[in-house]
Amino acid sequence: MDDRANEVDLDELDGEQLRGGCFCGKVTYAFSAHHVVRTAYCHCTQCQRLTGECCPFIHTIHLPSTAVSLSIPSSGTAAQPSELAASAIDIKSPPGALRAYSTAVKPHKTRLRCSTCGTCVASINSRTGTTSVWGVHLARLPAGQIYHWDKVQPTAHIFYGTHLLAINDGLGKWSGYEHSSDRLDE
Ligand SMILES: [Zn+2]
Ligand SMILES: [Zn+2]
Repeated sequence: MDDRANEVDLDELDGEQLRGGCFCGKVTYAFSAHHVVRTAYCHCTQCQRLTGECCPFIHTIHLPSTAVSLSIPSSGTAAQPSELAASAIDIKSPPGALRAYSTAVKPHKTRLRCSTCGTCVASINSRTGTTSVWGVHLARLPAGQIYHWDKVQPTAHIFYGTHLLAINDGLGKWSGYEHSSDRLDE
């Protein structure tokens, strides 16, 4: 297994910036930690089936779509990848390096996968103007820890009503989003 695609170049980052990307490294993104709207472990049935390829739950990080900058290989002869805000991606006709998928249940949410390795790199919500990325895809320090973990570590378990694995790590458990749904662990 080759993890070098996700290894962080510390010289490239300022104190607030995080980078992530798909497994093969062709599609990458960057954002600043101070833009994080929500960071949580999501136990919803869509994440269980679509995002993590059958994971019991995933670590999702929500950001304004304007604050997520995607770097996508150009098609054709252009040598430089295009840098696009998630808000600027035409989800009906995404660049060739990305495949878009949305479900009938939540048609306003479009998951973008790398066309090469299939990794789900981002989910764009056209209703809220936010984009989700996943903690597991963030750049790592040489020993494997996620760079700036303290700035993106989850604060809650959300959509815990459909959990497949019971977690007892001290974080609050919610039926929906943190602070705007029923608390399930009190
Ligand atoms: Zn890829
Ligand atoms: Zn979810």
